[in-house]
Amino acid sequence: MAVPPFDLCRQLETMGPALDRAVLEVLHSGQYIGGKVVAQFEDAFAQSVGTAHAVSCNSGTDALILALRALDVGIGDEVVTTAFSFFATAEAISAVGARPVFVDVDPGSYLLDLDQVEAAIGPRTRALLPVHLFGRPLNMERCMTLAHRHGLKVVEDCAQAAGSRWAGRPVGGWGDVGCFSFFPTKNLGAAGDGGCITTNDPRLAQRMRELAVHGMAERYVHNALGYNSRLDALQAAVLLVKLPCLPSLVHARQQHAEAYGRALARVSGLVLPRQGVAGHSWNQFVVRIPGVGPQIRNQVRDTLQQQGINTIIYYPIPIHRQQAYRNLGYGIGSLPVTECLADQVLSLPMFPELTADQREHVVDGLRLALMGTGQPQHPGSAL
Ligand SMILES: *Cc1c(COP(=O)(O)O)cnc(C)c1O
Repeated sequence: MAVPPFDLCRQLETMGPALDRAVLEVLHSGQYIGGKVVAQFEDAFAQSVGTAHAVSCNSGTDALILALRALDVGIGDEVVTTAFSFFATAEAISAVGARPVFVDVDPGSYLLDLDQVEAAIGPRTRALLPVHLFGRPLNMERCMTLAHRHGLKVVEDCAQAAGSRWAGRPVGGWGDVGCFSFFPTKNLGAAGDGGCITTNDPRLAQRMRELAVHGMAERYVHNALGYNSRLDALQAAVLLVKLPCLPSLVHARQQHAEAYGRALARVSGLVLPRQGVAGHSWNQFVVRIPGVGPQIRNQVRDTLQQQGINTIIYYPIPIHRQQAYRNLGYGIGSLPVTECLADQVLSLPMFPELTADQREHVVDGLRLALMGTGQPQHPGSAL
């Protein structure tokens, strides 16, 4: 039995006809940029996040760039963030001319370690850019308290966390701005690229809206140097069909996570993600395979691969150790938890339509693969 890391086609079995109709309707409307469908999606998305405004754009990366630009973060400024994330988190900070300042992650949650943030704040710090990585919500009450104490803006990277909540409130509505991605493998996936920015601040919303269309306030009147970053009407139509399904898609992920957690609870040589985290949307189910260096993890991954079980490593090289950021001067050992995680993490197949059979195949395969490592196995080895 083959188990893919995600299966984007299986959703079509249920949503296919509605998606077909929605796409054809746009195709025959002749309105491909902007228009009613895009506005409808923005309204629906704002409502789902509980913010006053949602501004759609071309990608999650653009959402971050537009948010930082609208907050006037630029050259000479610093933004405190995590290096254990997708590259775009930091890339967006650099794209606006600012400098990412990396703080290590908490070894329990893999999220920005709020205990270490204050030490990274300096006179040039303008904003915090936390990431709800793998769908796990960061403690946003603490994050906002910290930001307010230092007069900082907060941009939430919600790319992996559509449908996640902290303290019962959707992520993306806590910070000054929330940035979402509709890349096909995210919790709410388009049929291509797409993104959205949420905010309660009408002035910010207006700025982001203008920046996404060449800084244009009214036709051919440009207030700022902006971007061409629009959500296609076709994508908006796809997303409008899928948005009402988001809660049930997230619920299915939560059930898979629970089942993985139960089945793997007593397997040694494996550290599971914390179970029972309220509001976790489980974009990924990431286990940790302790060892010195990545060898054991890689061996387990290869063994799983031979059994048709496709896992992914999010992320094998932390952002601060990427060639593109060598100029920032973060040496080996500068973010020890992040670097350790990069060597040990493995994402098991996780998507709403995963079947119980597939899940069991993954669990059995993982047990076998771990036995084959020949390592002394103790559960929960400390980082
Ligand atoms: C996917 C992702 C992004 C970028 O989103 P795109 O739509 O691919 O541009 C940013 N941050 C994180 C954490 C992501 O996972």
